[in-house]
Amino acid sequence: MHQKEYECCILGAGPAGLGTAMELVKHRVRDCVVIDRNHTVGGLSRTEVFDGTRFDVGPHRFFTKNREINQLWHDTLGEEFVPVERLTRIFYNKKLFNYPLKAGDALTKMGITESMHAMFSFALAKFYRSRDAVSFEDWIVAKFGRKIYETFFKTYTEKVWGIPCDQIGAEWAAQRIKGLDLFQVMKNTLRLNKKDNIKTLVDQFDYPLLGAGYMYEAMADKVAARGVHVLTDTTIQQFQRNDREITAIKVRDRDGNSFLIKAGHYFNSIPITTFFKMLSPVEDDRVQKAADSLYFRDHITVNLLVDSTDVFPDQWIYIHAPEVLMARVANYRNFSAKMVPAGKSALSVEYFVFKGDQVWNKSDEELIRLAVEEMHRSTLIKNDQVEKGWVVRETESYPTYYIGFQEPYSVLKQVLNQYKNLTPIGRGGLYKYNNQDHSIYSGLLAARNYAKSEPVRYNLWDINIDAEYQESLERQELDEFSKH
Ligand SMILES: Cc1cc2nc3c(=O)[nH]c(=O)nc-3n(C[C@H](O)[C@H](O)[C@H](O)COP(=O)(O)OP(=O)(O)OC[C@H]3O[C@@H](n4cnc5c(N)ncnc54)[C@H](O)[C@@H]3O)c2cc1C
Repeated sequence: MHQKEYECCILGAGPAGLGTAMELVKHRVRDCVVIDRNHTVGGLSRTEVFDGTRFDVGPHRFFTKNREINQLWHDTLGEEFVPVERLTRIFYNKKLFNYPLKAGDALTKMGITESMHAMFSFALAKFYRSRDAVSFEDWIVAKFGRKIYETFFKTYTEKVWGIPCDQIGAEWAAQRIKGLDLFQVMKNTLRLNKKDNIKTLVDQFDYPLLGAGYMYEAMADKVAARGVHVLTDTTIQQFQRNDREITAIKVRDRDGNSFLIKAGHYFNSIPITTFFKMLSPVEDDRVQKAADSLYFRDHITVNLLVDSTDVFPDQWIYIHAPEVLMARVANYRNFSAKMVPAGKSALSVEYFVFKGDQVWNKSDEELIRLAVEEMHRSTLIKNDQVEKGWVVRETESYPTYYIGFQEPYSVLKQVLNQYKNLTPIGRGGLYKYNNQDHSIYSGLLAARNYAKSEPVRYNLWDINIDAEYQESLERQELDEFSKH
């Protein structure tokens, strides 16, 4: 079989893979190839173009506490990375509630009886301690009370994960809404905590003028200009190994031709579960069983071109209403008007699914009809406004932190750590509920470990699980930055 050789091979051209490539190039490692099965770069953060209109794979906000990533984003796009005033709300009980929650807004819209119920259940919740929480439900109830949990957290979360909230690990809540509880919401409403910068409470974010994926298209252009090969429409089919060393990967290009790629080192951002399935020879039963125990939630976006600019003013709305299957809707005109033709709006309607379930198996036409009907029924659009629709199906979108996932996960981590020339990176590769910043950061640190450019060796598994680790690292870097 035909084969090509490189010093480094990066699997996946999402934020993690391109972050790795940028940092390798910085350390003069240029004999690299980046491989992705999609026709364009950006992974889950890519932007799809239909009839000249740009749609992200669900709404993507750029926000980070990590100055280095922020700088990288600004250096990459310069004036094409612009601030957007955030408006996002929750749709529930035919009403729109501000999100992040604002105490006054929520309590007024809930009405007196429901509000008193909420305050009473919050008072009761003070008898629980969130640090003892095992499930997502325990954690939120301890922080907000059962009534607020049922109104503002339960339905959406169950739509996203496809399992009840008492089976989702508290890690997810702690990671997602760390530092926030009902007292904090009230303090924020009254603006008593100006100094605190709690991650879910931000009212402005930066965004590329032509969609989230525009950032990654620019990063790919940058590395390609420095000699890195970026192969899109190329699918990884097999990882060949000798003991705990990858000897080659087998890929298939857009014309259906298979060939081998041999590299000194591999950086892998494709899902951990896929990696173990594609290993040849496979690992022993215990390891394969552990890999089979992890799973991802899959995702569908129904993208609609609407013949009006008078649609909702939010960038996105969480749909908590249980009477519809859609979970979130986004309006890309409100991210950047440059993504959309004049006089039109570009909306995405999201369904969280498992590949092969009833919703996944619907035809594109059925999904478009479903989305239009649900949007119309929720009074978010009039159905005669929709001109055209396109469907994007995405597998392995959300690594699932179900209760008990830690055990098989540690088996896989241990095995992966023994591979001499393979570094897992990114959301799927590390099985981490990463945002873009965490994924890029994993790529930067992986490249630094490879280039041995720093005296420390970074443990990538700790990014975005142990905030202290990342923050102390950031502080060092911030100090470095302030010197320049
Ligand atoms: C609906 C949704 C909304 C989100 N909103 C936000 C947000 O607001 N802000 C934010 O910061 N983050 C958000 N995220 C998260 C963000 O999309 C991810 O953190 C980021 O894209 C992860 O980057 P990555 O490179 O680690 O992985 P990915 O983006 O998943 O990239 C992995 C790449 O590997 C490729 N690949 C997989 N298998 C193969 C194969 N066999 N052969 C070849 N290539 C393969 C894929 O095509 C993909 O391009 C959101 C995610 C989703 C799903």
